[in-house]
Amino acid sequence: MPVSWWELQLEVPAELADAVASFLFDEGSTGLETAESSGGTVIKAYFRSDPPIAALQRFWLDLRTAGIEAGEPSYRSKPLAEEDWAESWKQHFQPLSIGRRLHVSPPWQRGAPADRLPIVIDPGMAFGTGQHATTRACLELIEDAVDGRPLARALDIGTGSGILAIALCKLGARQVYAVDIDERACELARSNSAVNGCGDTVIVASCWSEVPGTFDLIVANLFTNALLDLAARVQVALRPGGRFICSGFSSEDEGRIAAHYGGLRVCRRHRDGFWAALAMEWREV
Ligand code: SAH
Repeated sequence: MPVSWWELQLEVPAELADAVASFLFDEGSTGLETAESSGGTVIKAYFRSDPPIAALQRFWLDLRTAGIEAGEPSYRSKPLAEEDWAESWKQHFQPLSIGRRLHVSPPWQRGAPADRLPIVIDPGMAFGTGQHATTRACLELIEDAVDGRPLARALDIGTGSGILAIALCKLGARQVYAVDIDERACELARSNSAVNGCGDTVIVASCWSEVPGTFDLIVANLFTNALLDLAARVQVALRPGGRFICSGFSSEDEGRIAAHYGGLRVCRRHRDGFWAALAMEWREV
């Protein structure tokens, strides 16, 4: 069996599930599934390489040091064939109406209510089906940002399946750049864009230096450290009057991220359980 993925399964107290999920994303997990269990929450996290067991043990130690009763970490990991990983996602991907105008569905369950814009996503090997709170938050903040405002150029950093770039296209952006450091996500974003009739509008790139110019709207659903690292570049790439939307961090990290983007001011906040999202605009001078 050609092994290209690892599945790390953990059972954690329900109140720690979001914090553990965030930790696993920060450690490079490309996708998570959660389910309630008698012992709390079962999390399955998928990794491209060996799961971060040593970091997980350190994380548990940090929880204990912080006085949080987490018990012993209970986990097991196993290698997966590529097809198993894709199949496992399929079971969890149900059509979903998001915000006021969008409807996301997998290719095997197409169709949308007449008053909604259909977005068809083949989840393949990348993150971004609309089932995760951070993707939904970004979609709602995008809808809010484009409301009545024509968008010339938009940028989606960390496009994954391409879902946010495709939504930007469907909501009227004339040109959308979609960037991902993962080549396979880029391929998937390209094919999903084509399936949605956005192939001419969405331009997928594997590196931001290939992306020219400035943007009216930039969206980045990443994680805390990546957002902190990108602050200077995002602010240079954002046109005056433009808006920056980000998610992938906890409400605890919200203040730190907002402070790092000193040239911008927060104009919308979004919270869904553990996860937070922000929309920021240029400060008036
Ligand atoms: N935009 C999608 C997917 C988010 S997952 C959604 O909202 O659901 C985050 C994606 O960002 C992953 O595909 C990962 O490969 C990519 N990524 C991580 N760090 C990045 C960086 N510094 N620049 C560009 N892409 C990055």
